[in-house]
Amino acid sequence: MQIYNNRNRKLLNADKLSHHYIKIVYFCGSIFYITMDLLIPDKVHDETRQGEALILEPVGKTNGRKLYIESYGCAMNFSDSEIVASILAEKGFETTSDFNSADVIFINTCSIRENAEVRVRNRLKEFAGAKFRNPGMVVGVLGCMAERLKAKFLEEEKLVDVVVGPDAYRDLPNLIEQVDGGQRAVNVLLSREETYADISPVRLNSNGINAFVSIMRGCDNMCSFCVVPFTRGRERSRDAHSVVAECKDLFDKGYREVTLLGQNVDSYKWSGQLAEGAEPLAVGDEITVVNFANLLEMVALVSPELRVRFSTSHPKDITDEVLHTIAKYENICNYIHLPVQSGNSRILDIMNRTYDREWYMNRIDAIRRIIPDCAVSTDVITGFCTETDEEHNDTVTMMDYVKYDFAYMFKYSERPGTLAAKRYADDIPEEIKQKRLAQIVAKQQEYSFYRMQARIGKVEKVLIEGFSKKSDKDYCGRSDQNAMVIFPVSENYKPGQYVNVLVERTTSATLIGTIVG
Ligand code: SAM
Ligand code: SF4
Repeated sequence: MQIYNNRNRKLLNADKLSHHYIKIVYFCGSIFYITMDLLIPDKVHDETRQGEALILEPVGKTNGRKLYIESYGCAMNFSDSEIVASILAEKGFETTSDFNSADVIFINTCSIRENAEVRVRNRLKEFAGAKFRNPGMVVGVLGCMAERLKAKFLEEEKLVDVVVGPDAYRDLPNLIEQVDGGQRAVNVLLSREETYADISPVRLNSNGINAFVSIMRGCDNMCSFCVVPFTRGRERSRDAHSVVAECKDLFDKGYREVTLLGQNVDSYKWSGQLAEGAEPLAVGDEITVVNFANLLEMVALVSPELRVRFSTSHPKDITDEVLHTIAKYENICNYIHLPVQSGNSRILDIMNRTYDREWYMNRIDAIRRIIPDCAVSTDVITGFCTETDEEHNDTVTMMDYVKYDFAYMFKYSERPGTLAAKRYADDIPEEIKQKRLAQIVAKQQEYSFYRMQARIGKVEKVLIEGFSKKSDKDYCGRSDQNAMVIFPVSENYKPGQYVNVLVERTTSATLIGTIVG
């Protein structure tokens, strides 16, 4: 087996291999597959991007100061870091990939599980030497951990000068000034309106082919295990015009795939005035209230050459209207991430998911009926408070029912302040959580392989994203159903183009084939 470092594409030696294996597989409690061919990242919570530094090209004016910003957690955080960098680039900051040479270090954090926070704390320790050498350096914590811990962060981490929540990024230039003036600064105000709709994120770390587009912020769902409603505030939808304009702009710049992002995209709802001379918001209509199905359609109509993906769907909210819209447009990908969390109705009830096992199965049936060739992935939590072996088994049988293409599987991690932390004891012993997790991971591997095998002999339309991480002789790209596909390079095609690939063999996470046109 050969494993390559995903950042520099160098072959790892045996020592590094085991180190990387453990780090990649267990970091954040997420499970990722290392296959014989490649480490396959997911795009929405991409483990290979954790801790990645964002680099922008200089925009012209410079204040002579350098910003180092690295991000953890979900795609929303990576997208937010681009907004932060854009706000500071306007003020003349240039980005650097070396924190030792930075004037400002920002770490954009995730709070979803305890180990995500531990990782950030450890990383902060690594910045101490740089700050010692350059006492004028500003160290800031952004994102969910900043929002959760607020000013307490300044007490706990003496190194930190500034703590900024996800709705306060426009205030960053002022906050940096305050720190320059010798004070420590905090802004963790949450907003009911902020969507950063007018800020065009600069995307220079990207491959120029796929981009994330934030369509909403916050979450009103209050799942009992989840910290997000506390760290990201109330749900609000972004102006539909600005979403479509951003997607058009991306398409004009050569991007060929957008992923619309929100914690619960199905509850997207924007009402606004149709500006004079503006195009109608939905096909053949002058509606001024836009739901998610309408928005999907509007983005799909930007160009048939622009692929549209989205994440995350909530089982209680995903409508047949959305499914019919996906079925209607060839460029809306046949792939739905539909987190189940548990297959047992009592556990779903105390998780406050507001659906039960039957409802979830009904939504799966609707997907299979309306979009027969749709891939489905999920999130599962094992060992939630009071979960019995029988209840865990309901999750296993749900996996048998759906045969997911892919799954993120986590052990329950109690988060301070959440409803579950207040109401229920975290009473499942660690070794039982681990045993249940291992069981569903093994089951999922079987189903991922089963789904991949079913594609053998089929022709997949693939958007070429670049060279395979393993070899410059192979291209990689994703199928409509979001499977990674590897195939030999052809001079006739380049990244950003679509090709038809005949699938000849597979691993549990990759399709391997050749171009047929
Ligand atoms: N909004 C999405 C939804 O409703 O499915 C997901 C958001 S959350 C960032 C991603 C996943 O993290 C969740 O679906 C859940 O499986 C997992 N998660 C959230 N809180 C957790 C906790 N306290 N312990 C373990 N996993 C958790
Ligand atoms: Fe968290 Fe539930 Fe909102 Fe998802 S829907 S972000 S799991 S509260």
